[in-house]
Amino acid sequence: MVLLLSPVKIGRMELKNRVVMPAMHLGYCRDGFVNEQLVEFYRVRARGGVGLIMVGGCAIDKYGHGNMVRIDNDKYIPGLADLVKGVHEEGGKIAAQLFQPGRYSYSFLSGTQPVAPSPIPSKLTRQMPRALAVDEIQGIVDSFGLAAVRAQKAGFDAVEAIGSAGYLISQFLSPVTNQRDDEYGGDFERRMRFGLEVARRIRTAVGPDYPVLFRVGGNDFMLGGNTNREIVMFCKRLEEAGVDAFNVTGGWHETTVPQITMAAPRGVFAYLARGVREAVGVPVIACNRINDPALAEEILANGMADLVGMARAMIADPDLVAKTAAGQAGAIRKCIGCNQGCLDSVFTMKPVGCLVNARAGRELEQEPEPARQVKQVLVVGGGPGGMEAARVAAERGHRVTLWEKDRRLGGQLNLAAVPPGREEFSTVIEYYRHELDRLGVQVELNKEADENSIKSFGADAVVMATGAAPMQPPILGVDGANVVQAWDVLAGQAATGKRVVIIGGGAVGCETALLLARKGTLDADALHFLALNNAESWETLKELAIRGVKEVTVVEMQKAVGADIGISSRWVILQEMHRFGVKTITRATAREINERGVVLDTQGKEEVLEADTVVLAAGSRSLSGLCERVKEQLPEVYVVGDAVAPRKALDAIYQGYLAGAVL
Ligand code: SF4
Repeated sequence: MVLLLSPVKIGRMELKNRVVMPAMHLGYCRDGFVNEQLVEFYRVRARGGVGLIMVGGCAIDKYGHGNMVRIDNDKYIPGLADLVKGVHEEGGKIAAQLFQPGRYSYSFLSGTQPVAPSPIPSKLTRQMPRALAVDEIQGIVDSFGLAAVRAQKAGFDAVEAIGSAGYLISQFLSPVTNQRDDEYGGDFERRMRFGLEVARRIRTAVGPDYPVLFRVGGNDFMLGGNTNREIVMFCKRLEEAGVDAFNVTGGWHETTVPQITMAAPRGVFAYLARGVREAVGVPVIACNRINDPALAEEILANGMADLVGMARAMIADPDLVAKTAAGQAGAIRKCIGCNQGCLDSVFTMKPVGCLVNARAGRELEQEPEPARQVKQVLVVGGGPGGMEAARVAAERGHRVTLWEKDRRLGGQLNLAAVPPGREEFSTVIEYYRHELDRLGVQVELNKEADENSIKSFGADAVVMATGAAPMQPPILGVDGANVVQAWDVLAGQAATGKRVVIIGGGAVGCETALLLARKGTLDADALHFLALNNAESWETLKELAIRGVKEVTVVEMQKAVGADIGISSRWVILQEMHRFGVKTITRATAREINERGVVLDTQGKEEVLEADTVVLAAGSRSLSGLCERVKEQLPEVYVVGDAVAPRKALDAIYQGYLAGAVL
């Protein structure tokens, strides 16, 4: 990692490496004040070696809301100074991101109607903003300058203005949201004016030597919005206005192009940073879905950017840089882009955590301590909860054996990783394989446990992580030859015919539908080959990329499919289902399965849905019987994960962590 770990300068600020942790809303603050939880969260990341931490968005005026970091009043400076001190004590550098949301503000959080260049409602918030008067616009420009000075007083090493993602600066820049005909709207020059004034005001406020960064969306990905071309022009002008570096992300929150879910390939938006880098003479940061130091190094080596932004990657593993520097890349817990612990929490106003890192957001809690008395520990079940329990117990010094009845570790993570665009789940298993091996955990595969084998093993403590099994709903004909379980389809152990009906529209049903609907479509390599050789027209290629060989229908009893999928990933999966022609029928109950297909009751109306194969995705049940018997017979038994009750991997891993930490 020659380049990634090499120093770089942004203005006069020297960074020890090229890894930036971009600003990410964490939801730890109360009333806008920095608290110990936030300080410790960033202290740990600074200790792990990240080159630059950006904090924020920091609300520069009343349009921010309660659990954001605030910087709109001098009373916040002492807390911000504590945060800066914490990061500096760990040898890190820290910048404040200055945030004004415009029409992305929520009136029920800020207590006031959102403002914008023009009164155009936001699809994200469903709120109607009011148009800003010219004197109000100039007031916001002033607020950026005042906030920058507060950041400087608090000791931050730099500031960044957010001009991306559809927030106020990008709203002024875009003809979609700026329909003014005064000096702040109309042609591109006038639409740039607000952003340029913000940059100049910050520069004037902080003086010539203080580093000022600007976050831009390399392409709005909005119909009628700005593209790479306009953004590059904007960046050139911002550079003239005194900006020292650009932090280039993807499109607006309202775009239908997924930005940060697992469906977006790793590093897919680095080309946007490249476009800016080719036009400006200051450092450029590439962002989005960069979760691997090897990929980061490649982006730098190819000249796409000067630095890389890794926000969620740093939540998942605060020691990513230190492990990279130590040549321990295999020990890095990679962010998988699931959003279960982080963005889904942001959207539901909860503090941010992480699926793969049980300690994220809990940095103030006592770390698992070395075992006072070394125990022989048996973990039964190698799914996420069991693997985490084994890892933590072994890390503490216990002698750990893990039994897994399957031929491979991972449990349901193996199934979760099967649908296209969900492959990152397999990196969780890779991480645990590496760590269990490093820690000397004895892993025995194809090992079925029963009461006798567990008792005769003679462990001091047993962790039961026996998982769950798919449910068989009480439907007439459910035992038929044309019926299979979704788990078996995902595992590649069940064939399906041309017409497939899936009973159950939860996450498993939707993802199985996507897997089947994509059968027969062009894969990425074929698409690339045919496109480059002009073998087919773009229209034909697009058609071939989405038209599969199966007809797939999902039947769901509730009013919507995908209800158990996290908010930040659900729309992407539903959009894909629609794109690949998956039909959905909601508020419908399967009454019978026969050789013709499924007899449905749709709000009192009966119909037959013809199918060659019926796939059951009707939930799962805990495999808890053995756990109960073992608990009665052995003194120290912990039950974790789906064996307690079916749950998300996020919760299973946390439970495994807790068990490993206390035994
Ligand atoms: Fe990454 Fe998922 Fe953790 Fe968020 S919860 S940081 S997306 S692994």
